[in-house]
Amino acid sequence: MRRSIATVSLSGTLPEKIDAIAAAGFDGIELFEPDFTHFAGSAHELRAMCADRGLAIELFQPFRDFEGMADVQHRRNLDRAERKFDLMSALGVRLMLVCSNTSPLALPDVDLAAEQLRELAQRAAQRGIRIAYEALAWGRHVKLWQQAWRTVETGADPNLGLVLDSFHTLSLQDDPSGIARLPGDKIFFVQMADAPRLDLNVIEWARHHRNFPGQGQFDVVGFFEQAVRAGYTGPLSLEIFNDVFRESPNRRIAVDAMRSLQWLEAQIHDRLVAAGDAVARQRLQEGRLVALPAMPQCHGLAFIEFAVDDASAQALDVLLGQMGFQRAGRHRSKPVVLYRQGHIHFVVNRLAHALAREHFAAHGPSVCAIGVRVDDAHAACERAVQMQSARFDPAEGPGEHRLPSIVAPGGGIVHFIDAALGDADLFETDFELEHPPGDPTGASPADLETVDHLVLALAPDRVDTWVLFGRAVLGLQAGDSIDVADPYGLIRNFGMADPGRQLRLVLNVSPSQRTRTARAANAKGGVVVQHIALNSRDIFSTVQTLRARGVRLVPISGNYHDDLCSRFDIAPAFVERMRDAGILFDRNADGDFLHAYTEPFHERFLFEIVQRVGGYDAYGTLNAPARMAALAQQRAPTAP
Ligand code: MG
Ligand code: MG
Repeated sequence: MRRSIATVSLSGTLPEKIDAIAAAGFDGIELFEPDFTHFAGSAHELRAMCADRGLAIELFQPFRDFEGMADVQHRRNLDRAERKFDLMSALGVRLMLVCSNTSPLALPDVDLAAEQLRELAQRAAQRGIRIAYEALAWGRHVKLWQQAWRTVETGADPNLGLVLDSFHTLSLQDDPSGIARLPGDKIFFVQMADAPRLDLNVIEWARHHRNFPGQGQFDVVGFFEQAVRAGYTGPLSLEIFNDVFRESPNRRIAVDAMRSLQWLEAQIHDRLVAAGDAVARQRLQEGRLVALPAMPQCHGLAFIEFAVDDASAQALDVLLGQMGFQRAGRHRSKPVVLYRQGHIHFVVNRLAHALAREHFAAHGPSVCAIGVRVDDAHAACERAVQMQSARFDPAEGPGEHRLPSIVAPGGGIVHFIDAALGDADLFETDFELEHPPGDPTGASPADLETVDHLVLALAPDRVDTWVLFGRAVLGLQAGDSIDVADPYGLIRNFGMADPGRQLRLVLNVSPSQRTRTARAANAKGGVVVQHIALNSRDIFSTVQTLRARGVRLVPISGNYHDDLCSRFDIAPAFVERMRDAGILFDRNADGDFLHAYTEPFHERFLFEIVQRVGGYDAYGTLNAPARMAALAQQRAPTAP
């Protein structure tokens, strides 16, 4: 499908926006009129600028407060429209968006509105322009797509059609399911936006909090599927009003925009293939929908790679040893060491390549790469590259593994590894293994088994990017967001996981500048791993082992454990065990969660020891303030 985006969606001046949109590979734009009103050039210059960059101006928008007005006002509106038709002719735009009237003067008369829109459409026809009518969620009398359609149908003019906008329909929880039965050629334009579910006035929500499909909580796929089934053949276009996007670098946001449309289109393609009915088969045959390599099936983390300098490598070696990790191998050609415990593999990279050096320069000792096991590593990488991820292709030594790899948003590397490749096969090519997997000396001395999840600190302008990347490239689903209080500001937090819970990420963002999360995320790239959570078979035993070997855990206030007894129906003796061990506790309908944190390593990242009991599927987020307050009080024993 032709891909388009409204100029209002991006930051910058109009020429900057157009450059960013063209660079991201779009076919066209919706020209948001205020962008033109304040443009320092003429309509002809803008037209040439777009044409030079291969961009069509698909739509001129918005034309407001037109239909259903008393006659005197209607005449003035027609004059106003004629002036816009002049401008559109100069710009070479053939489609005008008319949004439903919000004026208190608008009359609740469908026939009048339809007649006036028909008159507008007939005038437009003389200029080679068509009129597309959109229901605004806050329109005076027309709020729903069915109402807009009834008006268009009543207007009965070939030059008058409908705009569908997913935001207006889905924000009102209106049912889009009848759209598939509309005549496809009467849908003149489709605007797509997603959004988080918020309990807000709909205008505030619409003008500040929309985001790209795949970044929010609306059923945008179901919505667009309706338009495709109807036989819509126009552009797939984004119209996003988002305060963060309007202050973020527009090249970056335009890449997200393109990834979003690719994801959406591929989702529809796959859905139609799965449905297999006659309409679906016909739409697929028409060939407008581009498919992508299948969504990867995750099989967990194969390894986590740290970038460290010599000093932090030594300190990390000590800590990992205390935590029961074994030095399992040395890289054949680089200063890189492999550590292992249970199924957990850590690769500690002493600035052996440019990426590790860059990561260290930005974040100090930090996670610079992850290895993700998937059903088909090459397909997963190909999908990611088609969806705007840069391939990561470092120089390899002779005979070393060349893993299909990409650069994730923010600069970390994701390596894809075939699930079928065993640990020995994965590591023995590159490492001289001191204790091959299965070696009985490789037992788990601290009962740590697998990586449970990674917590990422994100700058506020990286969150939507990562949600979409996680969803579209890694096949993860986002959970609901939870707000928790750091002593120095709010932390918003939500989990993302694949359906099989093999790969779990928690995204942390802080609108405050003063939190630990914000300080971590403020470094170059705006994304860094804050915690590495490891599953223990027996957290009491693990914590005891760690403490005995000198690992310092974040001290938890005794008041927290006193409070536990009032929050949960748990045996006092069990609470006392947790108090003595410094273990935190959460319980929900699915099961229990026990966890503890190591003190941050070089003030950068920390390890979390977790044990899931029953079907507990969350992250103990409500306990995060216990950790954050403890760390704050360690740093500043008296309040600042
Ligand atoms: Mg193009
Ligand atoms: Mg719209």
